Amino acid sequence: MKFRTETKTDGIFWCALMIDYATEIKERLDTAEVLEAYGIHIDRKGRAVCPFHDDNTPSMQVYSGSKGYHCFACGENGDILTFVQKYFGLSFLKACEKLNADFALDLPIGQRISVREQRAMEKATRERKEKRKAEKAMQERLERDYWAAFDEWARLDYQLRKYRPQAATEPLNPLFVEALQRIGLADERLTQADLRRRGSAYR
Ligand SMILES: [Zn+2]
Repeated sequence: MKFRTETKTDGIFWCALMIDYATEIKERLDTAEVLEAYGIHIDRKGRAVCPFHDDNTPSMQVYSGSKGYHCFACGENGDILTFVQKYFGLSFLKACEKLNADFALDLPIGQRISVREQRAMEKATRERKEKRKAEKAMQERLERDYWAAFDEWARLDYQLRKYRPQAATEPLNPLFVEALQRIGLADERLTQADLRRRGSAYR
């Protein structure tokens, strides 16, 4: 759903596509980074002293990425926009504007824009979404490749250990020979697949 109010002065439309902005803001900002920027100390386990109740122990869990926060004592929870609204006592729109300004996101929130500019912006948003989708698909493919390489390596490693000759005179088991010949390459493939999936790690 989009919020859209229009006034037809000078052919310029006042457009506030707030839901798109909110999605954009949440996708681009990390909850923990935002809270720390506003002075909330977060420990190594991702916990913070909750600012919404009289908290002595860190009761609030802050999740990475856009997954938000949850206070296990008073039950406050939400995403960065909910946090900014409650913490600073702002409306949804003002919270969007504050995050946009404080983190230099450069979204044209609240600005008067022409229909042409609006179209261009919608196109850019669409392109960003498509790019994210493509990146996600690529990451999933690299993860699949990694696990396939891991399975192959694990199979050979198992064969090596299970069919290893117990005495020097014992004839070599073909499965042991196969594993011996192939594990070097499998190990190399696994390392490469791991590097590739890390290299394009998608948040
Ligand atoms: Zn709390």
